[in-house]
Amino acid sequence: MTEAVATTIDVTIAEADWASAVRTVREFAPAGRVLLICHVSPDGDALGSMLGFALGLRRLGVRDLQATFPGPFEIPEPFTGLPGLDLLVPEADAYPNPDLVLVFDVAAESRLGGLVDRLAAARATVVLDHHASNTRFGDVQLVDATAAATAVVAEQLLDRLDVPLDLHIAECLYVALATDTGSFRFDMTTPRVHEMAARLIATGLRPGEISRRIFDSRPFGAMKLFADVLGRAELEPTAAAGHGLVWTYATLDDLARHEQRPYVLDALIDPVRCVAEVDVSVVVKEVAAGEWAVSLRSKGAVDVSAVAIALGGGGHRLAAGFTGYGAPGDVMVSVREQLAAHVVA
Ligand code: 5GP
Ligand code: MN
Repeated sequence: MTEAVATTIDVTIAEADWASAVRTVREFAPAGRVLLICHVSPDGDALGSMLGFALGLRRLGVRDLQATFPGPFEIPEPFTGLPGLDLLVPEADAYPNPDLVLVFDVAAESRLGGLVDRLAAARATVVLDHHASNTRFGDVQLVDATAAATAVVAEQLLDRLDVPLDLHIAECLYVALATDTGSFRFDMTTPRVHEMAARLIATGLRPGEISRRIFDSRPFGAMKLFADVLGRAELEPTAAAGHGLVWTYATLDDLARHEQRPYVLDALIDPVRCVAEVDVSVVVKEVAAGEWAVSLRSKGAVDVSAVAIALGGGGHRLAAGFTGYGAPGDVMVSVREQLAAHVVA
């Protein structure tokens, strides 16, 4: 699905937008039906920022509260221990006419799938996000492209609503922050990120235990699946105008053979992006017959967000994605072409 491309973007959030967000939540949340939505195939930041905020609203006394995401109601195993999961409902059970909709980590309306109609159905919508490619939908937009995770925006809004952090809220936000910073390794790991992590850890949470659960644990079958998929990776040193590309693909048959769920493939980009010889890494993952979720990563020479936007998706400069069609080879033809067109260094 093609998405509109944002032409201008504020990198930080204006005071007036914070004020409207606070006003909107205070007006509609206490007595109304509140629906929180994050993106399809939710990752740690999508689920963590949404559930952390939902628990904050519960602390404010909000009673009619649901959290949801589009697509199959499947929570990746690493996130099945998150606090606030009791607030999650499948897409089909989400309030049809909520008073207030809050949207988390969603760069474009296409990432809301069948839940996109709730934007128009609600009396007010507030969007919390950190994607530079955010298309600026919703009534109140809290989009900070300098924030390492949507959880950074969520924590600030909770603070402005005078909701104190507790252990459960902190655990959700920590999972989100650790996910999107690659365990505090990526470039956006600023002093602000470590200060936030310090506030979260001060509630008493256990970073070692959380990291083991969300990063360092996978079924034996997933390891064997990774071995197959990594075994067919291809190195293309001349791609991306000589900065180089490594790529591989995983099919639904690979998942079936190893009896694995699709989300296990989210971690597969990590070993691929470690390849020293190249700048760009790509994993092409089959989500339906002939339909592929494509993950793109760069070490800095290519703006993969621009590549993804050109191909109907979005993301960040060093991490982005889109949906491709056909065979993996067809998808890669368009990727190679766009990589060459978006070299920045
Ligand atoms: P991942 O490769 O981990 O799925 O995604 C990397 C980044 O790109 C994330 O910030 C994610 O939100 C974004 N992204 C991935 N796929 C899509 C897509 O199809 N559309 C848009 N707009 N963003 C995407
Ligand atoms: Mn995010």
